[in-house]
Amino acid sequence: MAEPAKAVRHVLGLSGGKDSAALAIYLKDKGTVPDIEYFFCDTGAELPEVYAFIDRLEDYLGKEVARLNSGRDFDHYLKRFGGFLPSPRQRWCTRVMKIEPFERFIGDDEAISYIGIRADEDREGYISTKRNIKPVFPFISDDIVRDDVFRILEESVGIPDYYRWRNRSGCYFCFFQQRREWLGLKREHPQLFEDAKRYENAKGGYTWVNGMTLDELAARAVEAASGTSESLPSASAYMSWQDLLRYASSDDDPEEQACLICSL
Ligand code: SF4
Repeated sequence: MAEPAKAVRHVLGLSGGKDSAALAIYLKDKGTVPDIEYFFCDTGAELPEVYAFIDRLEDYLGKEVARLNSGRDFDHYLKRFGGFLPSPRQRWCTRVMKIEPFERFIGDDEAISYIGIRADEDREGYISTKRNIKPVFPFISDDIVRDDVFRILEESVGIPDYYRWRNRSGCYFCFFQQRREWLGLKREHPQLFEDAKRYENAKGGYTWVNGMTLDELAARAVEAASGTSESLPSASAYMSWQDLLRYASSDDDPEEQACLICSL
């Protein structure tokens, strides 16, 4: 006798970011997807605030969030990729530490993947190349925009704590960070900043920030604060930390390019 057809799975990936969290809460409140499965792809190098936020979400949603991982840590893959740090062009970390665990989690099941891209955005999320995974975008179809997302979070689990100093979730060493966010990491999590430094190999040209090491970035910030740097006004000695970070940042916000399975 033929086996009964498996039910279509409904899955929602929580990155630790605001949009996927708000989508989970939004769909729970709507109650239209009762059997939804939540998952979180853990690289083992996420920000402490991300782990805390996922725990908080799990409590609020009242349902387990499956923690997925690749079974190996970043150091293992770094070695496998010849010591080449991942970068926007060589984003091996996303594939092996986020996307592959997700695809293993789904297997060959038919699945609908709920993705938190908002109606006020013009970007694509991770759309699996696997034909059995169909992406849907409830925020787009329901015209939910950024302000709505913040309202949903403020009325439920709150905004992730890292938003005080960083715009996105993901690994503490994520190369998508702006310079001001690296400096925020140094201030908020000095040990993680040191840990990120140990992956750099300046001689080999492997640095997290384009054209400089993290030590050089930090030194420039100190120079800027003391007014000895030409890139900052001499009044910088009196700057607040927030202003210092703002002036120290000269790169464009790469949020639009970030892999959304990491940061949405
Ligand atoms: S958060 Fe950044 S470093 Fe981590 S897997 Fe995603 S792109 Fe790579």
